[in-house]
Amino acid sequence: MTPKLIGTVAIVTGASSGIGRATARALAEHGASVAVVARRRDRLDTLVAQIEAAGGTAHAAVADITDRTQAARAVAEIIERFGRLDILVNNAGLMLLGPVHGADVGDWERMIAINQNGLLYMTHAALPHLLEAAKDGPREVADIVNISSQAGREASANFGVYNMTKFGVNGFTEALRQEITQSHVRVGVLEPGAVDTELVSHNNQAIRDELASSDAIPEPLQPEDIAESIAFMVTRPRRASIAELWAMPTSQA
Ligand code: NDP
Repeated sequence: MTPKLIGTVAIVTGASSGIGRATARALAEHGASVAVVARRRDRLDTLVAQIEAAGGTAHAAVADITDRTQAARAVAEIIERFGRLDILVNNAGLMLLGPVHGADVGDWERMIAINQNGLLYMTHAALPHLLEAAKDGPREVADIVNISSQAGREASANFGVYNMTKFGVNGFTEALRQEITQSHVRVGVLEPGAVDTELVSHNNQAIRDELASSDAIPEPLQPEDIAESIAFMVTRPRRASIAELWAMPTSQA
């Protein structure tokens, strides 16, 4: 079978870990040249080496995308390296849980900065190139996939600001879809349930203990499960746009 993404260029944010890293590998296996974005250079360099050892093409663009200048510079660097852009996966994110009363407002700001502003800055910088690719790219279609969450569909106590950021991602995704779908830039949101990554590890011990006891999911999704879903979304025929995909572990009610 011919890989469906040959000749395309994809950006994956938050590719130094978890879902982003697995997605970069999956898109490279489908033939895309993959630009991986995050702050930790060592991890990106290792990933690039692994993708290239497997016969793929990859580039590390180190950036803190909560800074709009760094986000724009990362996109410009990737365009300079590959000359085009067909796919943007806005995956980088942070989940810091806890009650609203007495919360550390800095935690809220950090979540809003990456889950919302980072996604917006990358989308703004990438959009002209995606519109271009949809006109004369190898597939005559381009893709934005925004990683939201089950927490973008359903609110829960202690998830307040994370819920707010992910509900926001869902709303923004659909608004943008309506604006540019007829230019053949597909815009879709993917809402995973629990995935086994480093996401929870950024919380304090009390939250980690509580999640492990009350909310334990016996068999969470693996990052590769979500990577396959993203690959599915961006390999549909030009006529078909997956606007929303909700991917849950079977063991999560
Ligand atoms: P990880 O913590 O494993 O990965 C998060 C990634 O985001 C890392 O690569 C990190 O890289 C990157 N990142 C964080 N801040 C920045 C920044 N300022 N600039 C650039 N990159 C940044 O988590 P997951 O893989 O689980 O999360 C990926 C996405 O999936 C997130 O949006 C998350 O909300 C969502 N999600 C996850 C679920 C889960 O259960 N795991 C469930 C539902 C949704 P670095 O630190 O090197 O910058």
